[in-house]
Amino acid sequence: MTMARISGMGDASAVTFTFANDPLADFSRDDNRQAMQAALADVKRRLGQSYPLVLDGRRVDTAEWIESLNPSHVREIVGRCGKATTQHARDALAAAERAFPAWRDTPFEERCRLLERAADIMRKRRFELAAWEVFECGKQWREADADVAETIDYCRYYADEMRRLGRGYSMNVPGETNHYFYEPRGIAVIIAPWNFPLAILCGMTTAALVTGNTAIMKPAEQSSVIAAKLQEILEEAGAPAGVVQYLPGIGEEIGPTLTEDPRTALVAFTGSRGVGLLLNRQTAEVKDGQDHIKRMIAELGGKNAIIVDDDADLDQAVEGVVASAFGYAGQKCSACSRVIVVGAAYAEFRTRLGAAVESLVVGPSHDPYTFVPPVISADAKERIEGYARLAATEGSLVAEAQVPGGTGYYVAPRVYEGLALDSKVAREEVFGPLLLLFRAESFEEAVALALDSPFGLTGGVFSRNPRNIERARREFRAGNLYINRKITGAIVGRQPFGGLAMSGLG
Ligand code: NAD
Repeated sequence: MTMARISGMGDASAVTFTFANDPLADFSRDDNRQAMQAALADVKRRLGQSYPLVLDGRRVDTAEWIESLNPSHVREIVGRCGKATTQHARDALAAAERAFPAWRDTPFEERCRLLERAADIMRKRRFELAAWEVFECGKQWREADADVAETIDYCRYYADEMRRLGRGYSMNVPGETNHYFYEPRGIAVIIAPWNFPLAILCGMTTAALVTGNTAIMKPAEQSSVIAAKLQEILEEAGAPAGVVQYLPGIGEEIGPTLTEDPRTALVAFTGSRGVGLLLNRQTAEVKDGQDHIKRMIAELGGKNAIIVDDDADLDQAVEGVVASAFGYAGQKCSACSRVIVVGAAYAEFRTRLGAAVESLVVGPSHDPYTFVPPVISADAKERIEGYARLAATEGSLVAEAQVPGGTGYYVAPRVYEGLALDSKVAREEVFGPLLLLFRAESFEEAVALALDSPFGLTGGVFSRNPRNIERARREFRAGNLYINRKITGAIVGRQPFGGLAMSGLG
């Protein structure tokens, strides 16, 4: 449990609050396992439904639809989501613009309660939402449950934060009254990835809503069914018409209409570096009729390294590296894709890591035994296999896990060594179950290798040497640095998340 104690600045409006994370489901308990199995069976019966756009509170059918497939069974259609056109994008902007003045002037306490009611609904539908993630995004049970828990946390954490910020601060001096407070900006365009399909979309959307902005949700094509569930929940929680629109569609087709429109005040984006940089350029340009400078929030990719020191506890290091590199098939921005082992520990670590990787269970996401699920799509599988072929020619294979038969997009977890530091595979984000091993002669060299990357999202160190740990704290510059633990799974209110360098705007 996390307890945060935050005080406002010096007057009667100062608030103190405590925030506690929603606990993860304990699947060693029979009741939780049965609840999850029942949710999977129930959701399976509801696969294949259609989810139209939601603009200004109304369901809007489209001429074309996006089919969302189950990565574990690619012939299974999870749902059909409306495929928005550029005209729908303009309609969404118009609806958000109309709804803005009233929402801006809604007392912040009411906006906080909207988020808390949404969190309560999600808590009641917790296993059902996790089951949708299992089917649509190929998340294993624990990963799906963690994403739903994080979504609930975001709603409650942002509501708490808004109560602190909403009152503003008195900054009086004798004879002068000063009040420091925050203003909503306007229309927030939210563009989200598929890998944390509820948490990231909901986090970015509710942060915009609670601070008095109206929102347009553009979910990723691969996770638009879950996004439709979020829209339903926000409506049920009492979001007025037009305050939030559900606008699934192809990013390249409707993206520019949303980001370049002069009415857009803010673009909140989480996704790849290439798209993030494009949107950053588009939002920076001032269009005719635009009376403000747009804000861009960008959370991008990573090429994250873990250093294993020569005195590290290797059992702990192997477990931490395997979880960081292969959990959710390496499809996390925070995933470990490079391991740098110091000196004499290399041979032993390599042997133990190899044995651990060869024993990984790859399988469909609904099977509770699965550790590595399929990747999200055929395109992703092809991209990752391309990097693996390159790694095999430029370096050598250390270990590979078996993949099952069937129609899932399975990619074998693999470890390679001997690649040059400037190899494409060593520098670009692969976003799959592919791990590179490097050797450093000293801890100092290991830190230099870890930092030799365009990205700076997460990093990790396994060491028992207090001086090296201290050095890493000073010199291993990454958004989130973890010592003697895995580098994925940042927790709301405890490990605020944001990257350096090309990993985002922080
Ligand atoms: P992506 O960049 O391909 O797509 C993200 C979103 O952008 C999708 O909704 C997509 O439709 C949209 N999009 C694509 N092209 C667009 C365009 N031209 N204009 C407007 N929108 C466009 O990323 P993805 O495959 O969905 O997600 C994986 C990436 O996200 C990885 O790089 C990963 O590291 C990153 N990510 C980062 C974080 C973080 O917090 N830093 C968290 C999760 C994922």
